[in-house]
Parts: sequence; C-alpha cells; structure tokens
Amino acid sequence: MKIGSWGRFPYSKNSVQPIDWLTQIPTVIDSFDETYLPFGNGRSYGDSCLSENGNAFGVRNSNRFLSVDWETGIIRAEAGVLLSEILELSVPRGWFLASTPGTKLITLGGAVANDVHGKNHHVAGTFGLHVRKFGLYRSEQGLVECSASKNKELFNATVGGLGLTGIILWVELQLRPISSSMIDSQNIKFSNLDDFFSLSREIDEKFDYTVAWVDCVSKGSNLGRGIYMVGNHMERGTLELPKSTKLSVPVDLPFSLVNPLTLKAFNAFYYNKQLSKKVNKLVSYEPFFYPLDSITEWNRIYGKSGFQQYQCVIPENNAQDAMKEILTTISTKGFGSFLAVLKRCGDINSPGILSFPMEGATLALDFPQVKGKTNQLFDQLDSIVSQAGGRLYPAKDAHMSGEFFRDSYSNWEIVEGFRDPRIMSKFWHRVTR
Ligand SMILES: Cc1cc2nc3c(=O)[nH]c(=O)nc-3n(C[C@H](O)[C@H](O)[C@H](O)COP(=O)(O)OP(=O)(O)OC[C@H]3O[C@@H](n4cnc5c(N)ncnc54)[C@H](O)[C@@H]3O)c2cc1C
Repeated sequence: MKIGSWGRFPYSKNSVQPIDWLTQIPTVIDSFDETYLPFGNGRSYGDSCLSENGNAFGVRNSNRFLSVDWETGIIRAEAGVLLSEILELSVPRGWFLASTPGTKLITLGGAVANDVHGKNHHVAGTFGLHVRKFGLYRSEQGLVECSASKNKELFNATVGGLGLTGIILWVELQLRPISSSMIDSQNIKFSNLDDFFSLSREIDEKFDYTVAWVDCVSKGSNLGRGIYMVGNHMERGTLELPKSTKLSVPVDLPFSLVNPLTLKAFNAFYYNKQLSKKVNKLVSYEPFFYPLDSITEWNRIYGKSGFQQYQCVIPENNAQDAMKEILTTISTKGFGSFLAVLKRCGDINSPGILSFPMEGATLALDFPQVKGKTNQLFDQLDSIVSQAGGRLYPAKDAHMSGEFFRDSYSNWEIVEGFRDPRIMSKFWHRVTR
C-alpha cells in the first residue's frame, strides 16, 4: 500500500507495511532493513508523517477497543482506533473527547504523537493532558508502559514526540461527560483584528469552544475581519449520532481551484452571508467540530501540486501586533486562503516536550503549492513569527528551516535522546541534520 501526507507536498509516497495484530510487530520491524516511521491515518499535512526511507509502519488496522468504563469515561483502545470510532460509541452513552482537533478522522496514535489541540485549548489544554497511560513498543526494549508517574520522561517525550520514540500500541484516555450531543453556538461578526482580540478577551471565559474564521483577503481598516464561532455543549437534550451526509472530490484536479479570483469571491461571500452581528444556533457536534470531514478527499481541490498549511503560534504579549503583520503581508502580496483560522490558546501547559501550543494566539492558513512563490511568502512569515518569539506546528510543516525549528523548540535534543534509533521521519531528518 502506498501513502502520502494530507497536503500532498512534498510529493513523496511511502510503502506501508500494515499490522493487524500486535504480535506481528517484531517480524514487521525485522522486514525493514533501514529506518521506518509509524503511520496513522495520514492527516498530517507536511513531511512529519513521512518516513525518511519510505518505510511506513501502518498502525491503522490495529483498531480494537480493549476496555471501556461508561461509569468513569475511561477507555483503553489500540492506537489505530479513529477519534470518529470513539465518538460513535461514546456519544450515545454521554461521553465526548476532552480535546479534539478539527477532524475526527485521525488515529489515537497520531493524536498523541502530535499532541493535538482543539477549540477548547483555553480551558482543557492539549490531547496529551487527557491521556492516562499508553503502551509503547521500542525496537530495543519491547513494550514499555508510560504514564505521568511511570516512565514519566518517556511519556513526556512521546506526547507530541512526532512518532520518534517508538510505536504507540494502545492508549488509555479520559473522556468528558456530556448531557446532549447538541452545541449551543453563536456566530459573532467582528470587523477587524483589534475587534477580534477584544471580543475574545471579553467572552472566552463563557465558552468552552472558541475559534474564528478570518477573511485574510481584506485590507486596511477591515484587516482581519471575520466570524467568531463559539459554543458550549447543551446542558440538557438527547444523545444522538448525527446522520452523515458525505460529498466527495472524486478525481485529482489537473490544476488548483484555489486562485486569487475564487479566494476574493469566497471570502467576501462568507463574511457577508451573515447579515446580523450575532446569530444563535443549536447545531449537532458534527458540523460544529468537523465541518471539513463531510467532504472526503477535499485536499484534491488544490490539484496535483498539492498545498501547504502554515500554522504558527505567537506568545500573548506579541500576538496582536504579529498577527496584524502576518495578515498584512499575506494580503498585500496577493495571497489568500479559504481556510484561515485564528484562536487564542490558554495557559494550561502540556506534558509534551515538543508540544506546539503556548499561551497566545494561533493562526492556520492553507496555500496552494506554487513553486518558488509559496516558500518565498513563508520565509517572510517565518521571520515575523521568529521575531515575535513564536513557532510553527510540525504536524503542518513542510518548509521550516532547521535553525528556526531548533531555536523555537529549544528542548528538541531531549526528544532526540529518547528517539528509537530505528525510527526517522523526513521532517526530523530535515530539521535536525
Ligand atoms: C481537516 C484537518 C483539520 C485538522 N485540525 C487540527 C486541529 O484543529 N488541531 C490539531 O492539533 N491538528 C489538526 N489537524 C492535524 C491532525 O490532527 C494531526 O496531524 C494528527 O496527528 C493526524 O493523525 P493521524 O492519525 O492521521 O496520523 P499521521 O498523520 O499518519 O501521523 C502523525 C504523526 O503521528 C505518528 N504516529 C501515528 N501513529 C502512531 C503510533 N501508533 N505510534 C507512534 N507514532 C504514531 C506519525 O509517525 C506522525 O509523526 C488537522 C488535520 C486535518 C486534515
């Protein structure tokens, strides 16, 4: 089986050796004569999920639930279980993921390895904070159980450790209780970036979930205008799984549908389609958390050259000014993105040594890959982020320089010390060698 990363840039396919049963692991490892990398569901955008030598260890088929306790909301499952598979079981029983990213189509192993975060980072921190323990297979030691109290250093190096410290075999997770599968949400329009920051400071404490869509094509006094989408689980209601309606992009398009004309039209339409300042809505959790999951293979709209996501986080003191500079650079250079997501992160520290979030604000934008141009823009953005004391998200990255990575993740050598010598990714090779 051949696989690539979600952004399809850099274009590099890996051969996957899938395992169905954990007992197959030693034989599969022996079959690789060079280094390999664990592979989940390939929802990372850049090269952090691609093996340096093209040898991927496929964990997705190892996807059984090992134990569930619906009194306490503690589940233990093999690392190939998808977050969507957990929700199918847990939502009807009144439990939800304590932290979830913007797609539910990721494995438990991938969620731990990137220490993913979601719309509730300001109140719940990252995914790793809700992991009670996991089993890790290391080529030289075999199975090692890790938790915040047992093999703590290895636990901290593995949460957000980019799959480098071993193969996560199973994960024990604490879920959060819910009384309804519906979200009581509000969409609030804001007219520029300053407006966003004051709104966020004023209302974030009232909502568990907050995220803003930003019109990144707008300029001048409209710079950074957008819609703030906030919500809480409804306090009472029914616990139902949403009916899934799936669209798909059936073929690889020969060229990108994303260009300055479509971007300008989409951004103006999306901002103006909401006429009043504030709209209250009761929505199912599915469209609220996972709007993009309803279109399978939406990454094909970027054509064969693929796309890159640029996601940075800037510390609180510099966030407002740096975000202005970033958005000004993007719009004056004529770039734009359908997806531009802005969120203020909270101060809850993650156990992960290489975890991405920090107290401040994070911005994520998708750009079609255009040879020469996209990386030229990224060089300019990197210098703004670096001067503001920020960093980039390895799960989304395909371009950052080794120097920028090592400066902004100054503890990277601790993870290198815990790296399984048989494991190497394209990303890690690029930024540490
Ligand atoms: C539409 C969309 C929205 C997203 N939104 C967010 C978001 O809001 N927040 C966020 O944080 N991320 C977000 N992401 C990124 C995504 O959540 C992460 O990249 C996630 O880690 C992907 O998991 P995966 O199972 O697909 O793993 P892969 O992408 O296959 O692998 C990711 C990493 O995990 C390692 N890995 C996988 N399985 C194992 C294992 N069993 N043992 C050890 N290492 C393993 C791999 O080596 C690799 O380093 C989004 C991605 C998409 C496509």
